[in-house]
Amino acid sequence: MKRAADFPILSRPVRGKRLAYLDNAATTHKPERVIEAESAFYRESNANIHRGVHWLSQHATDLYEGARERVRGFLNAARADEIVFTRGTTEAINLVAFSWGRANLKAGDEIVLTEMEHHSNIVPWQLVCAQTGATIKVVPITDAGELRLDVYESLLGPRTKLVAIGHVSNALGTINPVARMIEKAHAVGALALVDGAQAVAHLPVDVRALGCDFYAFSGHKLYGPTGIGALYARRELLGAMPPWQGGGDMILTVAFEGSTWAEPPARFEAGTPNIAGAVGLAAAIDYLDEAGLEAAAAHEDALLAHATAEIRKLPGIRLYGTAARKSGILSFTVDGIHPHDLGTILDSEGVAIRAGHHCAMPVMTRFGIPGTARASFALYNDERDVAALIAAIAKAQKLFGTEAAA
Ligand code: PMP
Repeated sequence: MKRAADFPILSRPVRGKRLAYLDNAATTHKPERVIEAESAFYRESNANIHRGVHWLSQHATDLYEGARERVRGFLNAARADEIVFTRGTTEAINLVAFSWGRANLKAGDEIVLTEMEHHSNIVPWQLVCAQTGATIKVVPITDAGELRLDVYESLLGPRTKLVAIGHVSNALGTINPVARMIEKAHAVGALALVDGAQAVAHLPVDVRALGCDFYAFSGHKLYGPTGIGALYARRELLGAMPPWQGGGDMILTVAFEGSTWAEPPARFEAGTPNIAGAVGLAAAIDYLDEAGLEAAAAHEDALLAHATAEIRKLPGIRLYGTAARKSGILSFTVDGIHPHDLGTILDSEGVAIRAGHHCAMPVMTRFGIPGTARASFALYNDERDVAALIAAIAKAQKLFGTEAAA
């Protein structure tokens, strides 16, 4: 898949070297088409939405609502009003925690999470549990970085009100069997939320086929702008949920005696939203559609397999996350070199990776390490990026005198 030329930033050298950008799980780069869509919005279509009687406002509203329809199609939701625009995955999960959670959870209720969740699918639940008296149960992971489904089933029961699971782990790359897990959650009467931040750019997502009640994702992980993402939620749930932020656009009537709320999704979009971001997100979905999500995933899988085979040839490498079903993430440590030192040396070679706990501290605790180095792939990466990664690791081992370590 030859897509690098679509991404202007990839042609800039970094530290005098060709950039090998392997930090895609943190954020992806943007193709010219997305950059152009966002800047064209400001050049030609900018106005505030939903409230103007003038032409430009109606035009901007059409673009914003058109982007919502684009997201609906992307997730195969039944209706566009099941899509709430948010700043990203984090805000989408907080919306569910603070709207649905505060209204529906009470002492004695349980929320089931997994040990591989990103902090943004842990901390909002801790905050809402502190306010409601509900508690959290955690599905542990195996040495390979897969969920213990037997334990998952044993944690489910009449107290379970919500199961919140990552579709793909950002620390390990594991693809979780979410459809099966959702079915089990529903069997005990619980709702299911899926954190799709790491999935949407790599797997086709069909919220109706998955059967989830909530699905959260961020635009910037799928070649779209930062500051825009979405929450999918079933219409009946959204309709019964109270607002969690107040302001313009989310009301029907306002009086000092009391106010009434707009229907979803407006009820959950208080204030002027990221209109240009939504337009950019729609352009990113168009781009991904055109490139072909399945072709992109096959390309990334091949690169991951190649990188995994190559890194295993080096001495002193430990891999974290060796699940049978994985997305394009290679998490590893190198004996004798702290991940941050490794990241710094790789950076000096133009190789951009992530080093640390990846906002998944419980995963690091599970494996007894402070952090890992993480290389993550996107559709524009190629074998030169893998070669640069491997060569830079070998160079770091030479510098640290660990190249002979077994
Ligand atoms: N969940 C997962 C699995 C992630 O990888 C991330 C981003 N690293 C998030 C949630 C949070 O996404 P955002 O920062 O875009 O809100």
